[in-house]
Amino acid sequence: MTSRLIKVACLSASVALGAFAVSAQETVIRIGTGGKTGVYYPTGGAICRLVNRGTAEHGIQCTVESTGGSVYNLKAVRAGTLDFGIAQSDWQFHSFNGSSKFEEDGADQNLRAVFSVHPEPFTVVARADAGIKTFDDLKGKRVNIGNPGSGSRGTMDVLMAAKGWTVGDFELVTELKSSDQARAVCEGKIDAMVFTVGHPSGSIKEATTECDTVLVEVAGPEVEALIADNPYYRTATVPGGMYKGNEDDTQTFGVGATLVTSSKVPDETVYALVKSVFDNMRRFRRLHPALGILKEEEMVKDGLSAPLHDGAAKFYSEINTN
Ligand code: GLU
Repeated sequence: MTSRLIKVACLSASVALGAFAVSAQETVIRIGTGGKTGVYYPTGGAICRLVNRGTAEHGIQCTVESTGGSVYNLKAVRAGTLDFGIAQSDWQFHSFNGSSKFEEDGADQNLRAVFSVHPEPFTVVARADAGIKTFDDLKGKRVNIGNPGSGSRGTMDVLMAAKGWTVGDFELVTELKSSDQARAVCEGKIDAMVFTVGHPSGSIKEATTECDTVLVEVAGPEVEALIADNPYYRTATVPGGMYKGNEDDTQTFGVGATLVTSSKVPDETVYALVKSVFDNMRRFRRLHPALGILKEEEMVKDGLSAPLHDGAAKFYSEINTN
């Protein structure tokens, strides 16, 4: 009896000691992502999963936050309320340079790139009965242009400006967040939604399976000019056959999704995160179908306009020389 009690006492003492020792060393990092039916959220989850496999060695615990998207994440990384954020390459560029939506905030000289992830075509989905075949057909319709703070909304604003459109050109404009828009399309509350997102994504899957919808082409002279004039835009296609009822490729333009941080985040932290992902690249690619096409040599440079964080640069120079 006595010996049993002693054992229990010893056990709880060592657990308490263990927990204390661990919590004293652990650093918690937060990655800002997007809506839960987008690709940022599961991508952040995939990164954290790989980081957290090594917590015992590097002492870093990674957590994911669902947020309003790219512009929100860039502002939060700038303010230090998030350690990392996933952001479209166009908004990374503007935050670093203090242009477009970041003109008031000014250039974020502390913004640092970590790596790029999947391509994000600017994707427009319309109800099949709405008579929308191309982007220009959105005029006069009920359209969700995206929540403020999302990169999608930012890119939609840029495209509207390029076309000389204002919100007055639509019958109705909504600012629903990405995870609410497929339902609004299928309930007939709106005719179309826009989402700059990797494929396949939960949101587009929802919009194409829950009701009759079509993916809409986004092309023409204004789009060509945007691509010609800006390094972060390129032509993009949503591959045919990926979603129900959309057998052919859909032509559009797009950006790349990137992971960013601040120069204020310690080198060891960024190094540990990058190493966790790159040392487990095959596993990373399998964690979401949109990540399946990633190539290391592209991830270290494509779509990155802010300088690489020193911790990331250190890891990349090691894998290059080894
Ligand atoms: N590109 C979108 C944005 O910045 C988010 C896409 C996603 O959630 O996967 O708002």
